[in-house]
Amino acid sequence: MSAQVLVLGPSGRMGRAVIEAAAGRKDVSIAAAVDRKDAENLGALVAPGVAATTELAAGLVACDVYIDFTTPVATGVAANAARASKCAAVIGTTGLSGSEEAAIAALAEVAPVVVAANFSLGVNLLLGLVQQAARALGDEWDAEVIETHHHAKRDAPSGTALMIARAIAAGHGVDYDTVKRHTRDGDVGPRPRGEIGVSTIRGGDVVGEHTAMFFGSAERIEISHRATSRLIFAAGALRAAAWVVGKPPGRYDMLDVLGFSHR
Ligand code: NAD
Repeated sequence: MSAQVLVLGPSGRMGRAVIEAAAGRKDVSIAAAVDRKDAENLGALVAPGVAATTELAAGLVACDVYIDFTTPVATGVAANAARASKCAAVIGTTGLSGSEEAAIAALAEVAPVVVAANFSLGVNLLLGLVQQAARALGDEWDAEVIETHHHAKRDAPSGTALMIARAIAAGHGVDYDTVKRHTRDGDVGPRPRGEIGVSTIRGGDVVGEHTAMFFGSAERIEISHRATSRLIFAAGALRAAAWVVGKPPGRYDMLDVLGFSHR
């Protein structure tokens, strides 16, 4: 049996990629598509036999799992609505606030939920490599993260850059919030040892590029990932959707889906 999937935001860049990537897969089937009230595609077919609607509650009841790449506000609304039907969820929206994280936590009490700021296999492997490098090098090597995305991206730094920075902090054995530096401007003084900087570049149609940099004395290590198609994130999200249906309630991440032991 294939998992019946509700796609949120089928008119969006990622919503379209999820629908495209689902074509031909046997483990998932697009069964409903729900967009915002003023979306231009309402009523139009977005997948075989599936028209975009605004009927969120009905769609959640009809499906096994919903896939959400929308906006933080829409993600909070959907997580609250999904509690009633205990619908499983795959959430990729980034830039979430505390109240939206709380809505996801409440949903995870009654349904299985996969949350990932990046659904690509490569980035999830990179997180492990970065943490290993940070542990081996220690904070004598200055660690910085640079990310580049298309000019329509709203949140900064990217959710993936924050995951990479947190992996460095974990490798150093420190609390990320005590060492983070997201912007530098003006007379910021010498770089404190152990600081972890994250820099943001926006432009053009870049799908997503991340580099972790470790600066030693007269040498430097860079570990990079470049995504050239949103289909890798969509394929990862669909894999997560097929995986999460039937799991016990709780919050999972992409490492759980990929079967990498990390707990
Ligand atoms: P986008 O602006 O192209 O699409 C957003 C979609 O959400 C639109 O279709 C919009 O109509 C829809 N939407 C807004 N409010 C809605 C509502 N109330 N109900 C239903 N749909 C609603 O954005 P995008 O580039 O597709 O990115 C979406 C999100 O996914 C961003 O937060 C982005 O950072 C994130 N993202 C995550 C990954 C990952 O791997 N986790 C990869 C790429 C993008």
